[in-house]
Amino acid sequence: MIRYEGTLYRPPSEADSLILQATIGCSYNECTFCGMYRDKRFRVRPLVELEREIDWAAHAAPDVRKVFLADGDALIAKTSFLLDVLANLRAAFPALQRVSCYASPQALDVRSTDEMRALREAGLVLYYVGLESGDDAVLERLKKGADSAELARVAAKAHAAGVKLSTMILLGAGGRARSREHALASARLVNTIGPRFVSTLVMTPVEGTPLFVEAGRGEVDELSPLELARELRDFLAALELDGTVFRSNHASNYLALAGTLPKDQARLVAALDAVLARPDDVTFRRRRGL
Ligand code: SF4
Repeated sequence: MIRYEGTLYRPPSEADSLILQATIGCSYNECTFCGMYRDKRFRVRPLVELEREIDWAAHAAPDVRKVFLADGDALIAKTSFLLDVLANLRAAFPALQRVSCYASPQALDVRSTDEMRALREAGLVLYYVGLESGDDAVLERLKKGADSAELARVAAKAHAAGVKLSTMILLGAGGRARSREHALASARLVNTIGPRFVSTLVMTPVEGTPLFVEAGRGEVDELSPLELARELRDFLAALELDGTVFRSNHASNYLALAGTLPKDQARLVAALDAVLARPDDVTFRRRRGL
């Protein structure tokens, strides 16, 4: 059977995927807002353990079509190891269509385009990348470990390898003071990258993180639901994309929106304008905790 270590995280769109913990934790683990892997020391799991789990899953769920390689940063593992894992997955699941993983900017920097291409040809076709912001001041405050130019550079490597990207922007990360800069700079970065998917999450101080400590000291200027709607509106209106799927379906969002850009852009912006036009009629609430 599959024994998961610690709390398991996966993107909303991997809800029906087989989750395989190829690595434990995040090799970077420095982002101030991220509490997902604070309790884990990063390591790559032995291939033999993964082979046993794949073998078990092949009998328990032979029709698996999608696999997500956890935890936070599987792409940092050696290419030869990932190629072995992917070969095992292809052999075990005849209907396998795609394998995906989170990819930190640090992992995207370390892996060469040729390595990413070899992995893509072996089935690893989609990376989820937390850009968080295109505003360098925000990225620095979040300790993302990369500025916007670096994020654009490493994302281009993945695209050159034929890998699809699903990018995430962290609403509220600039506080009130930099809300508009954060929204517009994030749109500029996403426009430069041109990902297949873009989604938004809302920055939330989680216990055990540096952000939570900052919030306790009163140093985090959290946006209200209406201010977040304004920021999302600014971000969406400034996007210039061609066939990118947008979603705000993570549990941290107040308002769930989805569409393909640019086809649905005017509808999405209008939905937010409608919310902003009736500030006293705030009917949207954070789904988490309802
Ligand atoms: S790179 Fe991703 S998983 Fe790692 S600390 Fe930052 S946000 Fe968390």
